[in-house]
Order: sequence, then C-alpha cells, then structure tokens
Amino acid sequence: MNTKVLEIDKDNIDKGSIIEAANMIRAGKLVAFPTETVYGLGADGLNKTAVKGIFQAKGRPQDNPLILHIHSIEQIFPLVKEIPELTYECMKKFWPGPLTILFKKSELVPDIITAGLDTVAIRMPDHPIAVELLRESNTPIAAPSANLSGKPSPTNAEHVIEDLTGKVDMIIDGGDTGVGLESTVLDVSGNCPMILRPGGVTLEDLREIIPDIIQDLGTIKEDEKIVPKSPGQKYRHYAPKADMFVYTGKIDSIVDKIKEQANLLIKEGKKVGIMATEETKDNYIQGTVLVVGSRENKNTIATNLFKTIRLFDDNNVDVILAEGVETDHIGTAIMNRMMKASSGKIKKI
Ligand code: AMP
Ligand code: MG
Repeated sequence: MNTKVLEIDKDNIDKGSIIEAANMIRAGKLVAFPTETVYGLGADGLNKTAVKGIFQAKGRPQDNPLILHIHSIEQIFPLVKEIPELTYECMKKFWPGPLTILFKKSELVPDIITAGLDTVAIRMPDHPIAVELLRESNTPIAAPSANLSGKPSPTNAEHVIEDLTGKVDMIIDGGDTGVGLESTVLDVSGNCPMILRPGGVTLEDLREIIPDIIQDLGTIKEDEKIVPKSPGQKYRHYAPKADMFVYTGKIDSIVDKIKEQANLLIKEGKKVGIMATEETKDNYIQGTVLVVGSRENKNTIATNLFKTIRLFDDNNVDVILAEGVETDHIGTAIMNRMMKASSGKIKKI
C-alpha cells in the first residue's frame, strides 16, 4: 500500500489538506492524525470493513476495543443508549480533552469497535487538526494509538512513519503531540465510578466532580481467571527492545542505585541507557544518558516518555535504567506506562 504523508500546520490549517484527509476517511481508508495525547490511527467508526483495517495494520488483538472520537456533543446521541447526569458533568468539565468515557452503546455502534462489550468508549479530542478532520469527515472516527501493537505510542509523525508506512493510506504530520500519554479511561456506567486507565485527566481532577471515584485495581474475577475491566490493560505495551528496570523511592537512593547497576552492567559488557531527569542528569557519568523531563514539572516527563523509550532503542542499548516518579497527579499515568514498558520490573529502593 502506498502511504501518503501530508504535512499540516496546526496553527494555520490548510482546508484543502483536511478535505483530502476527510475524503479518505469517508472512503473507508486509514488515516493517522495527531491528537493532544498521542497520534491516532483513524477510520470511519461506522464502517466495519474500515475498522477491521485498523486491527490489521496495527496487529491489534480483536478483543481490545477502540475509542470513538467526536467533535460535538450532538454526535454522541445516536451512539449511546443514555447519558447519566454524572457523565454530563464530566463531559462539560473535561471535554475537549484527554478523557475517554464509557457509555452503554446503541445498535448503531458496530461490535468490532467494542469487541462485543455493551459499552462504547468515546472521546472529544482537543487538537485543532483532529477537530477539523472530525468536522469535515462528519462521522465518528475510531482511532487507537497509531503504533504497531506492543510498541510505545507515537508522539510525533516520524514514530508513525516508522511503524505504519505501507500499512495505512495516509499519515498527517502535524508536529509533536502535547500530553504524550493516552487518554484517561473513565467508567461511570456502573454503580461504582472507576478509572480503568490513568491518563492526562487525573484522579485528583476527577475527584472534584466524583468524590468517591476509584482507580481500578486492574481486575475483575471471571471463572477464577483475573481479567482487567479494560481489555487493553492486559496486553504488553510500550515495550522497548531493551530490558527496562524502573527504580522508585527517595531520589538520592534511586540515583545511587542506578549508578551502581550501570557500573555492574557495563562491566558485564552491556550497553546501558539511563533515563534521567533535569535535576539528576549530572550525576551520571557512564552509559547513554537521556533526559526525559523535569521532576519539578512531571507533565514534561509524560510528554517525552514514549519518545525517550524509542530513542533508547535507536541507540541500541541492551538495558534501560529509569528513575520512577511519585504516583500523584500525572505521576500515576507515568508509572502505569513505565510499569508496562518494563513488564513490571519496578524496584523500590
Ligand atoms: P488505545 O486507543 O490504543 O489507547 O486503546 C484504547 C483503550 O480503551 C484500551 O485500553 C481499551 O481496552 C479501552 N477501551 C475501549 N473501549 C472500552 C470499553 N468498552 N470498555 C473498557 N475499556 C475500553
Ligand atoms: Mg494503544
């Protein structure tokens, strides 16, 4: 398949380019586009064949449901059975933005979108290119992250080009994304409001509207098997080629431990990458040191996390030693992604 890369300036959007991309969506083609979280791989959410193409291009397991993206509240009504009061309040406060909300789905939503579940995940993104594409396409767009399944989500067009060239019809290059991590997934469809996946809208933000909101512990019981309520959470994600270890605790102890480990590994002949922060970078004198962001402003760490993981792979390191962060505000989502990227290899010092 020939993949067209189309550059669009998000601050000066060329209408003709948006029409070209929207025509692709309407024709059932696959178009990757930027959002404020990560790049999405879009297709007409009401066209089953097009949606099937998303799963094929990404190599995504069929039981992992997709998020539908919209640009106006009116677009929701045909897609859902009801909108509870609490859901309205969340939409009003956090949309457009990095919050995905589950609704009881209507008959119109194809089963392939929801992987057979009776809920559908919907989000209104806050990125000018995404909004214009949605408006011009005039259909809900299904869009998971535009990476090959299992790899870190793309936060710039180069990442998408690396993963999906030849597999999709168009890639819109709209520069770097902002938040850098995927949206928060919120379930207010049952009796117990729950965050199924932490993201840019945090537990602390949501508590202002839902004081008793809880963060899902990841599991419900099903025939003795433990399965996550959000199917995507059970898969290996964001995985670098290198083996990754994350250290948490007091920052001075983390730095000492990483230096000690780096020394040992280098003696064994390993190529070591260190994921450092602005505040700690000067402590590290060995290995490939990359600064992911500032501990003073954890949003910068979220923004750069996936890019930094990909950069370590580009540098062909064997092992990544990463500093963890405190799990408050955006830190919860950062540690969730680090946990997955490291296959759970988090060590408290
Ligand atoms: P991605 O678009 O790649 O960020 O993945 C979408 C995430 O939303 C995955 O973790 C899915 O499991 C989750 N998701 C989508 N629809 C539902 C749903 N109906 N119920 C629970 N989780 C969902
Ligand atoms: Mg994804």
